[in-house]
Amino acid sequence: MTIAGGVTVSDVVREIAVELSRAGIDTGRLDARLLVEAATGCSQERLVLEPAMPLSETQAARLCEMVRRRLEREPVARILGERYFYGRRFLVTPATLDPRPDTEALIALALRIADEEGWRDRAIEILDIGTGTGCILLTLLSELGKARGVGTDVSPAALEVAHQNAGLLGVNERVRWQLARSLDVVTGPIDLVVSNPPYIASSEIAGLDPDVRQYDPLLALDGGADGLDIYREIVSGSARPIFSSGTWFVVEIGAGQSAAVVDLIELHCGSDVARGHLTGVDLGGHTRCVAWNHKFSRRSKAYWQE
Ligand code: GLN
Repeated sequence: MTIAGGVTVSDVVREIAVELSRAGIDTGRLDARLLVEAATGCSQERLVLEPAMPLSETQAARLCEMVRRRLEREPVARILGERYFYGRRFLVTPATLDPRPDTEALIALALRIADEEGWRDRAIEILDIGTGTGCILLTLLSELGKARGVGTDVSPAALEVAHQNAGLLGVNERVRWQLARSLDVVTGPIDLVVSNPPYIASSEIAGLDPDVRQYDPLLALDGGADGLDIYREIVSGSARPIFSSGTWFVVEIGAGQSAAVVDLIELHCGSDVARGHLTGVDLGGHTRCVAWNHKFSRRSKAYWQE
């Protein structure tokens, strides 16, 4: 697609939206607006209020390159190098998973637990396994002003991005990063474990949407033969000394994985803990996260689920 200087912002948004939709991208209009915003440096409000504003030659050339990348299925967040998650801006690079709105369901459930536990005023310790951009841990540290945390990842490049994001959010002093595959390096006691682990079955990777398959790091997606490898590790490790009976575990799961994850909880933690598990639902209506705790009997499940 060619974009010439002098075209108005409203015309170019419309033309890009059509072009993206024709290429099978179903968020064409939204993507077009975000790309025009980035190429011009004008806010969405200004683009709406001044539809006849013309693009300069430089802006047109910049936009043209962005649209070319989007037509190759590169996600908007990767073209822009940033993504908003739970209302905050996070840097995103090829080394990290692109944070998803679905993951905000995990934040909502973790904050609900935090409220019930009275954690808003306590210096609780949070562990985020496979932190990526750090979006989960850093959002929780921003919401829970006294909390501290440790984020682990197997990728040094991802941890560097998480470190930068911590700086942007001003929570650097309350967070540590650990390059690790195993929990052996983590010191406790931990009050809250969160994780959005890789959970796609290896055989399903090839069939993923190109926006995901070609751009999210394989390490952040591949959950082993049945997609459950990291859940097995987390659940079977939940009796480690760094955890206590009061530790809450909140993990994101793939669509349709909740029964399998609850079975793992039952196997390793017993049927009472499994029966007391909590779930959170994403905007698409899928069960997107599961939470459990070893002394859940303190409150009835009905109370939490209402
Ligand atoms: N915790 C990060 C996120 O939710 C990265 C998760 C991952 O790489 N699987 O975006």
